[in-house]
Amino acid sequence: MMGNEAKAKLFVISAPSGCGKGTLLNELSKRFDYYYSISCTTRKPREGEKDGVHYFFMTRKDFDKLADEDGFLEHAEFSGNCYGTPRKPVEDNIAAGRDVLLEIEPQGAFQVKAKRPDAVMLFILPPGVDSIARRLRRRALESGETEQQIQERLKTVVPDVRRAYEYDYVMVNGDLDKAVEDLVKIFTLAKEGGAGLEEFSAANMKETIDEVLKDA
Ligand code: 5GP
Repeated sequence: MMGNEAKAKLFVISAPSGCGKGTLLNELSKRFDYYYSISCTTRKPREGEKDGVHYFFMTRKDFDKLADEDGFLEHAEFSGNCYGTPRKPVEDNIAAGRDVLLEIEPQGAFQVKAKRPDAVMLFILPPGVDSIARRLRRRALESGETEQQIQERLKTVVPDVRRAYEYDYVMVNGDLDKAVEDLVKIFTLAKEGGAGLEEFSAANMKETIDEVLKDA
């Protein structure tokens, strides 16, 4: 080794529930090799979700035990449930030179940034808060979530989006092709150090964030 190989990057992505990040991240995974961190959660699986694939589903007791054992890189309570990133797989993959991607909400994202200041922080904005409500309602029809659960989630969207100003990069998940193109660009250039990504800086995206929050 000549010592000039790129160091593995830790990508931290936050996107409010219901903003359609699933499709987008799936496209990303076809184009890049990285370790996608599987989180632990105390929430119940939705239909089609598998233990060990989408999440490690666990009881509150087991979650708290893991937290006490310092098993999490970060953990947070969100919408009445606990979520946490298992620490060891993240550290092992980074040490082995493989990029890592975390898809977590802002409280956890900033815990990670505090521990690893070189983490690349990306916020994916919905085109508008209205579009999230529509998506959550559609999903509730399939998953059987109650109106109260939907309202709980909607309540978290606005405070989450307000934190977008603090991320390194911000992009909008509107048109899918454009969003994939933006995400690929952010990934590619961030891996090379971040030059050329000024258009996605939170400062340059300020008006777009303001716009999303306008009807909130
Ligand atoms: P959902 O219940 O819709 O799967 O996820 C709810 C929220 O929890 C999403 O914003 C998601 O990004 C976040 N989340 C998922 N895993 C983790 C985690 O390990 N830690 C934190 N802090 N948030 C997570």
